[in-house]
Amino acid sequence: MARDLERAYIPSHPKLFYVNFKPGEFNSGLVARKGFATNELITRIEGTTRGPKAYSSVQCGPGEDDHIELNSDLLYANHSCDPNIAFDLSSRDPSGWHVRALKPIATGEELSFFYPSTEWEMSQPFVCQCGALSCLREIRGAIALGEDELRSRGYVNSWILEAVVQRDAQAARNSRNVA
Ligand SMILES: [Zn+2]
Repeated sequence: MARDLERAYIPSHPKLFYVNFKPGEFNSGLVARKGFATNELITRIEGTTRGPKAYSSVQCGPGEDDHIELNSDLLYANHSCDPNIAFDLSSRDPSGWHVRALKPIATGEELSFFYPSTEWEMSQPFVCQCGALSCLREIRGAIALGEDELRSRGYVNSWILEAVVQRDAQAARNSRNVA
């Protein structure tokens, strides 16, 4: 399967990064072809299509139907609990969507983002093996995380933070009503 993919592979951003194909369903990764500085724009997120929530989709807003397919090598950016890039889809105007560096990135480094920064609830929760000291182990999406846990990852999309604040306010109201 991986070999078939590789044979058909045409890089979408050949000057910026490439896909390191490895056998196994979720083992491939995205690797920087050049260095990036903190907060540097890596690429705009273009050429996306709307689609149902799936293992390959990225959430782009608070609504049920706010999921996109990336249709590019960005699909291969893996999750890390200590990410070095952000998928910023907070703009209401899709032309403002972009990927940027959260820390200095060297040529040859794998690019990873924090999946709960876009995903409220993952379509396929998984056990993380990113190896970061701050690793959360089970990644289910923002729904399973506190506001501080989310904010400590460098970047979280605006609608995710709003949903977390609403959820926590509702929980506080409920606990007051019980007491
Ligand atoms: Zn992790």
